[in-house]
Amino acid sequence: MNVIYLGNPTLRKKAKRVEKFDEELKKFIEELTKVMYRDDGVGLAAPQVDESIRVFVYDDGNGLNVVINPEILKRSENKVKMEEGCLSVPGIYADVFRAQSVEVKYFDIEGKEHHKELSDYEARIFQHEFDHLEGVLFIDYLSTAKKAILRSRINKIKKGEVL
Ligand code: ZN
Repeated sequence: MNVIYLGNPTLRKKAKRVEKFDEELKKFIEELTKVMYRDDGVGLAAPQVDESIRVFVYDDGNGLNVVINPEILKRSENKVKMEEGCLSVPGIYADVFRAQSVEVKYFDIEGKEHHKELSDYEARIFQHEFDHLEGVLFIDYLSTAKKAILRSRINKIKKGEVL
């Protein structure tokens, strides 16, 4: 299992909901988790390994979280800026504004439902990974000027020249 890069159409698709919480899903999530830690990511969404389903894993420093069929029920009006990167967009880091806190709902690997309020770093990771399930990448939020500065690097990633 490997991470795919910007330019691969899977990253732009809306991912499908998980219907079956079975052994196959568990195996997939185990692999996804291994890849996240191996590649030093704080989060990794299924579309990033070319699997268009609504699953992501993350570790904000307080242990692993497995998130299936998530929903963001509420986003705080207060937005904060933080520098982000992404394993699928290697070598690019940029400030992104996101809600400081979010109210979320999701299922874990056993199919148990969780309802939580997340804030700060964890809220940021959750929003970034959730975007992957919608086909959205953090670079989509950058200003035209910032994108222009990064254009040659972005084009290189798209052509597969930067790994
Ligand atoms: Zn990402």
